[in-house]
Amino acid sequence: MDTKILEQLEEYFSEEFALVRHDLAALEQLVEEKMRLLGQGLLQRTVNRKPNGYKGSSMACGCDGSMRFVQHRPRDIHTLFGWINLERAYYHCPDCRKSLYPYDVASGLGTERLSLGLAKACCLLAVDDSFEQVSRKIEQVFGQKVSANTIERLTHQVGTVVLQQADEDLANVRKNRDIPEARITPKRLYIAADGTTVHETDSWHESKIGVIYSEDERKDRKSCYVGRFDNSETFGWHLWLESCRCGLRQADEVIFLGDGAPWIRNERRKHFGRSTFIIDWYHASEHIWNCGKALFGEGTKVTEKWVHQRSDLLWDGWTKKLLDDLKEQRKKYRGAKRRAISGLIRYISTNEEQMRYDVFREKGYDIGSGAVESACKYVVGKRLKQSGMIWKRLGSSSILALRITWLNERWEQLWEKKPLAA
Ligand SMILES: [Zn+2]
Repeated sequence: MDTKILEQLEEYFSEEFALVRHDLAALEQLVEEKMRLLGQGLLQRTVNRKPNGYKGSSMACGCDGSMRFVQHRPRDIHTLFGWINLERAYYHCPDCRKSLYPYDVASGLGTERLSLGLAKACCLLAVDDSFEQVSRKIEQVFGQKVSANTIERLTHQVGTVVLQQADEDLANVRKNRDIPEARITPKRLYIAADGTTVHETDSWHESKIGVIYSEDERKDRKSCYVGRFDNSETFGWHLWLESCRCGLRQADEVIFLGDGAPWIRNERRKHFGRSTFIIDWYHASEHIWNCGKALFGEGTKVTEKWVHQRSDLLWDGWTKKLLDDLKEQRKKYRGAKRRAISGLIRYISTNEEQMRYDVFREKGYDIGSGAVESACKYVVGKRLKQSGMIWKRLGSSSILALRITWLNERWEQLWEKKPLAA
């Protein structure tokens, strides 16, 4: 920065600076406060220098009529530096009664009185934290008071834009058969799908989660996520589109991981026909655990031993032996315990081909020991399933959309489009 300006500032604040000269922490805080005031002043001075958004005395309206310039109107806007006051041109169409502030659109201002910069910061924090926490953190970091309610409305607006954009992208791809170019050409691409429930006002609802990943030579794993509160068909299409971006069509090999739920089987068959389907190890062993608990109770040594013996058989590819063993055991039980064993037998025999863990491990495949499950926890649980959280659909799907935009590193892309003015 220009030395002259710095010298002037130093002199201007010299008395206050002198008081904290021996304490960097206090000096830093003071400079931060001054810079905020300077920023606010500078913004305020600069913003109304020229007529804002003035496009002449009239402009074309969407209704084929014409919008007339009425006057410049004021508006207060909360920025990262504090409140400023804007004057901008106001247009009105006498035919369709539409009104327009071209400056607001160009600046990315929405219905909330927040600048794009402050809105972006609020939404970023809301990706991880409750609205109350975000409100506190914004005040702590930027010295600006934004209410939890404002932040909530903001995330609804931006999240809705993200979801609409994703639907539009998909519709375009399907209509024009214009499949997006892949960012990478993976050797082996993994696609995993699962469902996880979120507590919403009427009851618990399933959000469907997809994780797409491949390993590069350094064994680094980069995951890309898909998450929606949608029917399986729509979700399947979104998972497919995202997989295309991750190199579905270019990959030498495609591995699909999931439990045996019918919707997962269906969507895999529709969109990932050439993939090797593996029942992920986490779900497979979960089924054995559930049966073990039904037979010998939760947390007992007997359960643990029983489960480990059966898991080992499965791990080593002895599914036939495991099924024979289970059928033999079933003879000993009646009622709920018998049903539990029958359920497990059915699960293993239906999915036998997808449970050849010996073969999969031999080939060096990731058999999904928790990758999918931890993605569900990470993508959904960490933000949407904090204790006592009950969501309205608009809220949960908006936050999930924002969270995934951040995790998939499309945050800047989203804000370049000025989502609040959309
Ligand atoms: Zn009009």
